[in-house]
Amino acid sequence: MPELPEVQTVASGLQSVVVGKTVVQVEHDWPKSFPNSLQTVDDHLLGATITNVSRRAKIIRMDLNTGWAILVHLKMTGQLIYNLDIFPDSTTRVIMTFSDGTKLYFNDQRKFGWMILIDQTEIDRLPLIQRLGPEPLNRDFTWQVLRDRAMKHKRTSIKATLLNQSVLAGMGNIYTDEALFLAGIQPARLTATLTDEEFKRLHLHIRSVLQQSIDLGGSSRQNYLAVDGSKGDYLDDPYVYGRQGRQCKVCGSVIEKTKVAQRGTHSCPICQI
Ligand SMILES: [Zn+2]
Repeated sequence: MPELPEVQTVASGLQSVVVGKTVVQVEHDWPKSFPNSLQTVDDHLLGATITNVSRRAKIIRMDLNTGWAILVHLKMTGQLIYNLDIFPDSTTRVIMTFSDGTKLYFNDQRKFGWMILIDQTEIDRLPLIQRLGPEPLNRDFTWQVLRDRAMKHKRTSIKATLLNQSVLAGMGNIYTDEALFLAGIQPARLTATLTDEEFKRLHLHIRSVLQQSIDLGGSSRQNYLAVDGSKGDYLDDPYVYGRQGRQCKVCGSVIEKTKVAQRGTHSCPICQI
């Protein structure tokens, strides 16, 4: 599933290609992927110009000059691809055509993702937005904020706590495993057992792995592609994610794969305590 760096890469890519474009046609074949009625599309999307693209957690927001916005969640296999002539294909759920003839494709093989049209004034009231924790790369996300929010979940593993989008937004399986490795913390540890020093390290490495992955264009483990169809490079060289059975890059021990928080979890038995 795309995590914060992948969604940020898509949002940044969209920002550079669709802002200023005017939507003239929308085709969609699957109501769950695009639930709005024809009337709503007619009233608020057709003829509208995209004014800005941003990201909150794993949700992409495209503002329109009609006061409405398009929200997109890529979920497991969603892609937003701009004007690449290998699309549409069998995974394409929505095609948006702009007045200059270019197209934006929302592809989603597994059909868990969605694209919705919504009044901008309603976005902050959506339950899925309201329950989100802070953005880990924002300046006001300090290690104390991480600790205080995490400590509301003392009896769960630190991995489950980090995956909880109400604690902090945008973390998924890959970057949680990577950050816990760099911080030297076993994913299965109960949150309550972490010291302030460990929260400081964890905070530092959550931000560093996310930023490093954004710099590398994200991780393309499965379906994830950037707006121009390119793959991300982060998983070319991870510390632990997907490296079970191989040597730890730091100590040479064998990286283990276990199950924590119902997720496949990668860790080093020596570097992480
Ligand atoms: Zn190690």
